[in-house]
This record gives sequence, C-alpha cells and structure tokens, in this order.
Amino acid sequence: MFEAEREELVEILKQRGITNQRVLDAFIKVERHLFLPEIMQQHAYKDVALPIGLGQTISQPYTVAFMTQALDPQPQNRILEIGTGSGYQAAIIYEMGVRVFTIERHLELYNSAMKIFDKLNLKIATRCGDGTIGWEEFSPYDGIIVTAGAPIVPTNLKKQLAVGGKLVIPIGDKKIQTLNILTKISEEKFITREVPYFAFVPLIGKEGWNGK
Ligand code: SAH
Repeated sequence: MFEAEREELVEILKQRGITNQRVLDAFIKVERHLFLPEIMQQHAYKDVALPIGLGQTISQPYTVAFMTQALDPQPQNRILEIGTGSGYQAAIIYEMGVRVFTIERHLELYNSAMKIFDKLNLKIATRCGDGTIGWEEFSPYDGIIVTAGAPIVPTNLKKQLAVGGKLVIPIGDKKIQTLNILTKISEEKFITREVPYFAFVPLIGKEGWNGK
C-alpha cells in the first residue's frame, strides 16, 4: 500500500538535500502509515510531524532523514535511540542493517512500538525508562540518536558512545532547538557541528527537563 506516495516522499527528501542512498532506500521500505493511529494514516506520506497520542509526535520525515544521514549508521553498527515514540525512526535505522536499541519513557508508547516491531518482525531491543541515563549494558554504541529536545548533552550518553561514534541530539529550549552532531574523537574530546531550527517535544528525565 501507498508505494507511489512513498516514492513521492523520497523525491521531496532528495529535493531538500538528502543524498545518502541507503537512507532513501530505507524510506521506500518502511511503511510509515503502519506507525500511525488509523485516522492519521492517510496523511502518513506528507512531509509533516503528526500526533501519536500522549502529547507526543512522530517526527517529520525530513527530520528523520536528516538525522539519519547525520548519524550515518553502517551495517552491523550498534545504535542507541532515545525516544522510541511511534517506532518509525528506529525502523528506518534497522532497515539499514543496524542493530538498534531504543528507549521510551511512556509505557503506552513503548507497548505499541513493541507490538508493531513484533508484527513487522523487526528485531529491535526496546526498553521502558529514562533514556537520559542511557543503556549501559550494551554500551559502547557506534552511534546515539536522541529524538526529543534536551537542555544539555547528557553525560551518560557521551560516556556510552564509542570513540569514533556520533551522537545526534537537539539542544535548546522547550520549543526550538539546534541539532548538535557530536563526533567522539577520544575519551574526553568531541567535535560538534550545529544545525539550527528544529522543533522536538521535550526530553524529560534526570539529565533532561523536569516534567510528566
Ligand atoms: N523517534 C520517534 C519520535 C517520538 S517524539 C518517532 O520516530 O516517532 C519523542 C519521544 O521521546 C516521545 O515519545 C517521548 O515520550 C520520548 N521521551 C522523552 N523523554 C524521554 C526520556 N528521557 N527517555 C526516553 N524517552 C523519552
């Protein structure tokens, strides 16, 4: 279903500057409508963020593509995602041949993401809890992607990243953030590239914002 719509979406992503063919291929493969509540499915292939319940959103396809291109995961890499939400971003990375670990703090969203991963037979490791403390057991990760807006870069995520790995995280206030793309060049040293004007829901937790 919706094959033509997915191809059109990929054309839009290309026009907006997404060049990584492995990222574009994943957007053809993953059926975004399956990650949405039924009443929203008809809008699945528009380049917009959509509500998924509990005040949370599935990110805009362009944002997912941009972050994935910045992360540049290689096959067999181990990638940690903070903020599973609908599960769509995790599925995109998984389809690039990556081993994905993802954490969601809302039990309802965690449960529905697990259900869709099972249904599509995506072998993604899921956890319900505060992702600002990371997931030490499987660290270090070749890459970490945070899909909620943070006030600071959580120290545990920096620690759990492998040297040579990338950490992609929106940093700013609760409304507007700058995407920070950190490359870990040694145990203590990071190089950061910043790309402005992103809007994510807040990252809530020990090293995030306070809130419910
Ligand atoms: N990657 C998601 C985007 C969901 S929006 C997708 O593709 O649909 C961000 C998600 O981050 C929300 O579901 C929110 O509940 C979750 N979140 C916020 N703070 C978190 C934290 N500290 N740990 C884990 N998840 C968190």
